[in-house]
Amino acid sequence: MKILVVGGGGREHALVWKLRQSPKVDQIFCAPGNAGISQIATCVNIPAGDVYGLLNFAQQQQIDLTVVGPEIPLTNGIVDIFEQAGLKIFGPTRAAAEIEGSKALAKEIMAKYNIPTARYGIFADAAQAKEYIKQYGAPCVVKADGLAAGKGVIVAMDEETALAAVDIIMAQRAFGQAGDKVVIEEYLQGEEVSVLAFVEGDTIIPMVASQDHKRVGDHDTGPNTGGMGAYAPAPLYTPELAEIVERDILQPTVKALAAEGRPYRGVLYAGLMITDAGPKVLEFNARFGDPETQPVLSLLETDLVDIIEAILEGRLASQPVTWKNGAAVCVVMAAQGYPGNYERGQEIKGLNNLPSGIEVFHAGTALKDGKIVTDGGRVLGVTAVGTDIADAIKKAYQGVAAIHFAGAHYRTDIGQKALEKLKGA
Ligand code: AMP
Repeated sequence: MKILVVGGGGREHALVWKLRQSPKVDQIFCAPGNAGISQIATCVNIPAGDVYGLLNFAQQQQIDLTVVGPEIPLTNGIVDIFEQAGLKIFGPTRAAAEIEGSKALAKEIMAKYNIPTARYGIFADAAQAKEYIKQYGAPCVVKADGLAAGKGVIVAMDEETALAAVDIIMAQRAFGQAGDKVVIEEYLQGEEVSVLAFVEGDTIIPMVASQDHKRVGDHDTGPNTGGMGAYAPAPLYTPELAEIVERDILQPTVKALAAEGRPYRGVLYAGLMITDAGPKVLEFNARFGDPETQPVLSLLETDLVDIIEAILEGRLASQPVTWKNGAAVCVVMAAQGYPGNYERGQEIKGLNNLPSGIEVFHAGTALKDGKIVTDGGRVLGVTAVGTDIADAIKKAYQGVAAIHFAGAHYRTDIGQKALEKLKGA
């Protein structure tokens, strides 16, 4: 098979790495890819959002299967367009991907089908949004309705911050069109967990649960980022909790999407808050998460091409999906200044001298004069599989210690929450 992977971050590097292990795969292209991906696939200089450019390429190269990483091509309808042209592609249609593309739609579906989530209001008018905030008070969470690369969410601990957030989103248009509407939510307390599932219509096969680390600093301090690391499986996600989430959240959600004329096929990502009153949905994504994909795919034993083919051929229910024992940890190494302004072009050293058992998934790198240099805020995701979380943490940080670039920073506590949970258990 000839495969095209769309995207160019750590998630796509992990997808290419996993797909390449399939005996069914002859050749992999990645658009646009990055320096790490170019070592195991052919990178093509087409941006992930250029849906028609990608279609032309797939037709010319007679690509057998396209796998989409990021959300923007999905919400732009890449799946609909490829399918109309008779090409095989893995991901939800535009209508199904709106569960991520519009937080207002996601909330309306959850309300209509009794899927547990935070109390909320949706507003296209800033004055009404502010009235709602004053009525319910703080803390609360103010979210831009549309896609904002994970940045359109403001958790406000006081009323003043919440009111200002409405202005940032709706008047200053900090997230552009994504701020045509705002969703204002009740503040939920608890621990977060990400549950990704393979979905084909009503059939769901959940993956091992993972935890992301969104804040830039150790012990969850400093501003939010795209994600500074992740681990899987999350010990907090017990079999009892998994049963509740499948019964009360995942199953009802895919049934609701089908009932709304948006049948789902692809990977559905549920971001959950485990509260004292049970699990509640923070958000849905219509794709693999980044960086959760790096540890999750590191633990997937089954051939990913087999799973994707089963989904596309309508037989996911009879497809075995198995996981390795142990645990995986991904530590993100970021550029100086990230998540604020950062420099590109710093040479990365040590990539060829890593201890065994470590995969370095490139997130923001490029080749310059034959050298691998930094080319993004999140630069690398150093990922290790271990016999347990403690072992995986140790190995991942041995990898981090072997890699150098000027200004590199990373969290030193990735996975510690899992260790605490295991100690307490
Ligand atoms: P989202 O993109 O909607 O998942 O929001 C990004 C982050 O904001 C989440 O991972 C949470 O840490 C936080 N967040 C979102 N909604 C809430 C909420 N209702 N209560 C508390 N924290 C939230």
